[in-house]
Amino acid sequence: MNPGFLPAGPVLNNVKRRKMRDVTRTLEWFLADPRCTKWILQCSACLQYGRKEETPASIPKARFEEMFPVMHLDERGLCEVCQQVEDEK
Ligand SMILES: [Zn+2]
Repeated sequence: MNPGFLPAGPVLNNVKRRKMRDVTRTLEWFLADPRCTKWILQCSACLQYGRKEETPASIPKARFEEMFPVMHLDERGLCEVCQQVEDEK
């Protein structure tokens, strides 16, 4: 029997990699749906995603509110955190 066929190491690596890909796929899954993107905001400085405060509770996607916390962008397209950073300059 060839010990080179033991899959222990590579299997562990695959599990880790698959988890990371799931995170990306989840975000893309939301961003690919116009029913969601309609309500999604993105800060032009830190590129964080958020949702509009008036987003209806009827978004047909699980965990939408968890993934996209309410965000308020100013006229420069900056989130609250970046607004503070900019204002302190
Ligand atoms: Zn920001």
